[in-house]
Amino acid sequence: MNDYIPTTVQESRVEQPLIEKFSRKALEIIGEDNVSSDQADLLSTCRDFWPVNSIWMLEGSVPALPQLVVWPCSTEDAAALLKLANELKVAVIPYGEGSGTMGGVVPIYGGVMIDLKKMNRIRSIDKESLMVNVECGMNGALYEENLNREGYTGGHFPQSLRCSSVGGWLACRAAGQFSTRYGKIEDIAVTLEAVLPDGTIFSGRSVPRTATGPRVDQLFLGSEGIFGIITAATLRIWPLPEKRHMVTYTFENLEESLQAIRLVMHSGARPAVVRLYDAQETGHHFPELGDKRCGLILLIEGNSKIVDAEAAVIEKIAMAHGAIEEGPTHVEHWLKKRFDVSVASTLFQKGAVLDTIEVSANWHNAHSTYIAMQQALMAVEGTMLASGHYSHVYPDGAALYLTTVGFPGDDKIGFYKRIWQAAMEACLAEGAAISHHHGIGLHRGLWMKDEHGAGLEVLRSIKKALDPNNIMNPGKLGLAEVSTWQK
Ligand SMILES: Cc1cc2nc3c(=O)[nH]c(=O)nc-3n(C[C@H](O)[C@H](O)[C@H](O)COP(=O)(O)OP(=O)(O)OC[C@H]3O[C@@H](n4cnc5c(N)ncnc54)[C@H](O)[C@@H]3O)c2cc1C
Repeated sequence: MNDYIPTTVQESRVEQPLIEKFSRKALEIIGEDNVSSDQADLLSTCRDFWPVNSIWMLEGSVPALPQLVVWPCSTEDAAALLKLANELKVAVIPYGEGSGTMGGVVPIYGGVMIDLKKMNRIRSIDKESLMVNVECGMNGALYEENLNREGYTGGHFPQSLRCSSVGGWLACRAAGQFSTRYGKIEDIAVTLEAVLPDGTIFSGRSVPRTATGPRVDQLFLGSEGIFGIITAATLRIWPLPEKRHMVTYTFENLEESLQAIRLVMHSGARPAVVRLYDAQETGHHFPELGDKRCGLILLIEGNSKIVDAEAAVIEKIAMAHGAIEEGPTHVEHWLKKRFDVSVASTLFQKGAVLDTIEVSANWHNAHSTYIAMQQALMAVEGTMLASGHYSHVYPDGAALYLTTVGFPGDDKIGFYKRIWQAAMEACLAEGAAISHHHGIGLHRGLWMKDEHGAGLEVLRSIKKALDPNNIMNPGKLGLAEVSTWQK
């Protein structure tokens, strides 16, 4: 089936009679509107935003194909579908909106794509305790709009807000652009509801904190679909901010500006947005600032008196580190352009290979990791650019986000693998974590052993215990045997 569409990393497929049996029973559970083996549906769910998919797509192939797509409309639907898949030993892959960047949804063993878009309701808002209960398939932008209408914000704005789902955020431990004030999604999550591979429904408790042993709900944060389906979540919300203060500073160099941000975080101030660009990216994003100094854009929001106090504290620290203040206009410009990534598709069409690599470092190695990774990337033949910014900051460190572009000629895939090998080796040698928010998926699994050490076996044991038939998103998170892609 579908053999006329070439696939590049398809390991195997589920035997077709099993898929047909699954399909017949799924029709009984969720009805004919919610089950499809149409070519268009298989193609539209077979890949994500992993750049390698774009390379293959331009060459006329897809990474791998599912054999069926199903759309559960409720937690009970999802539970019945997983129970069935487990009985038949059919691989299933949860699908949010396919905005992942690591090949997390690529169905390398075929099977059934469980597209969660029809589970898209806000179930309830608890205005007293500032929490919302929302279904996993809700689109990010719609989620925020719904909350805004009620006078609240979810505080989570990934660049992919308009093309990602709440469940995808939780499954990938996503980070939004306002994370310094509101936290990453794992900080925003109170608890979640999930369906285990055998169809059991797990529902966590929406209480502020517990001391009742390890929390099962937290096992699903970053699980990328390998332990079950996150069907709903209780998330923290905030009243819409009373005031916003925006300001840009430039600094002589990255080291000086990192020192300033570290002291801001140690002062207790919590600006919502903190983005520090190296000189190259400063010149690229804000040409009026030139490309000699490093630009820091800050957005502080919340209660107006607290915002004013935080702005004053930050200004004092910035000035003590030789900052020049550049006013609010660059932040306003960034706010307008922050979801625009159109340049990426243009570059791919011109023969470029580009990717972004985000890692997490402490303050002592935040700068050296930038230097080491940038040098490693530039040393790969064909690389034209490796620039970076710090996009999420904490009292104990920062997330570094590198963008790299190359024109490698015909060997695009070989080049892609070489830049990643170089970047990951440099990152690990510096002691930084290999991902801050894009996750592991298919691609980054190669470095999971280096990242987790003995912890990887713990994850494997949990996977075996929860999913003995290995039906949930097999081949992902670096738990399985090495795939064709990784060889
Ligand atoms: C242009 C662009 C900008 C981006 N910017 C950011 C950013 O600022 N911050 C950030 O963190 N990420 C960003 N990303 C990455 C991506 O958007 C996030 O990882 C997002 O959380 C994925 O959500 P999704 O619904 O699209 O998930 P998918 O891509 O559909 O799935 C991702 C993984 O999660 C699993 N999964 C999905 N839903 C569920 C569920 N309900 N239960 C269990 N498993 C599930 C899938 O099986 C897969 O393994 C960006 C991506 C793009 C393309």
